[in-house]
Amino acid sequence: MTSRILLLPGDGIGPEIIAQARKVLDALCSQGALDARIDEASIGGDATDRFGTPLPDETLESAKAADAILLGAVGGPQWDGVERSLRPERGLLRLRSELGVFANLRPAIAYPQLVGSSTLKPEVIRGLDLLIVRELTGGIYFGDPRGIRTLDDGRRQGFNTLVYAEDEIERVCRVAFESARRRSKRLCSVDKANVLEVSELWRDVAETVAKDYPDVFLSHLYVDNAAMQLVRDPKQFDVIVTTNMFGDILSDLASMLTGSIGMLPSASLDAKAKGLYEPIHGTAPDIAGQGVANPLATILSAAMMLRHSLGLPDLSDRIEAAVGRALDRGFRTPDIHSPETTLVDTVQMGDAVVDALTSN
Ligand code: NAD
Repeated sequence: MTSRILLLPGDGIGPEIIAQARKVLDALCSQGALDARIDEASIGGDATDRFGTPLPDETLESAKAADAILLGAVGGPQWDGVERSLRPERGLLRLRSELGVFANLRPAIAYPQLVGSSTLKPEVIRGLDLLIVRELTGGIYFGDPRGIRTLDDGRRQGFNTLVYAEDEIERVCRVAFESARRRSKRLCSVDKANVLEVSELWRDVAETVAKDYPDVFLSHLYVDNAAMQLVRDPKQFDVIVTTNMFGDILSDLASMLTGSIGMLPSASLDAKAKGLYEPIHGTAPDIAGQGVANPLATILSAAMMLRHSLGLPDLSDRIEAAVGRALDRGFRTPDIHSPETTLVDTVQMGDAVVDALTSN
């Protein structure tokens, strides 16, 4: 059956890096390995400029109709001053919410060729292959009531609400258990159950879901300890599952263990594993249009898409191996370049991956 893939290039370096991922997907289609219809649509600042809204109806409809969506990034200083509802980020947040993508998967993999780019010691990082599953559509970022009010004594008070219903916890835990089952069968749930009632419930639900996964070993850590352990000995973890805010912080911390923002993909999945895939970085306005952005995070996001939404793990493996081979051959964009390697631009890096993919 023909898979429907929607590409959303977005702003800044988005179109440059999405073009490289498209080359990789097109190469698989040309080989007959992938049967896909690949469309493109507008989102973010580009859509605000062209259609007066950061998420045009047509884009939303195409996204809903697609089997999977691959996004570049949205935003940039030129839209900082526009009315709040027209800001590029609004389009992306609405897209995530309309698609109901509640589980955010962020792998942090230390490529052996790039171990030296981390700020941590090579022996701490070498071999790191960690997956953080972050709840994405609930918790304190969405809870009501929220706001800033003035108290009777004139002081202003800010307030937010941390709230999770058990079904919201259960569904993200199931995604994490399923992921752990496909990996080394170890899952660590991160909470703050010594202080927060919401975390008590989180822990309780995680334990209940664990009964359906007797082959997966479940452990628990408080978030402060988890942050410390991630820096002290990140390889003790395989899969981590946590709330929206804790996951936001821990996944950025984990991504930096590997040393390069241009290498890290992500997936956001709904209940049926339909997904929105994107590199974790933004639109990099400082290098946009120069042709020097690292396209590998986007190409690796496409690999995640084939694995999680299109049921094609073998093709996903092939793309990941091709990225490894391009690095083995010494090709590096400026963000990961070191003196003994070959400096390439965005298009040349895309070509190197396609070449590695098609040359064996
Ligand atoms: P950024 O991730 O865009 O850039 C941070 C630094 O990393 C910059 O120096 C940039 O040049 C570098 N960088 C990022 N991606 C790179 C790549 N692929 N190759 C080489 N270098 C790369 O973060 P920022 O500067 O804080 O944000 C810029 C814009 O992107 C803002 O408008 C922000 O709102 C937006 N943003 C969007 C998303 C998204 O669409 N999901 C995520 C984060 C930021």
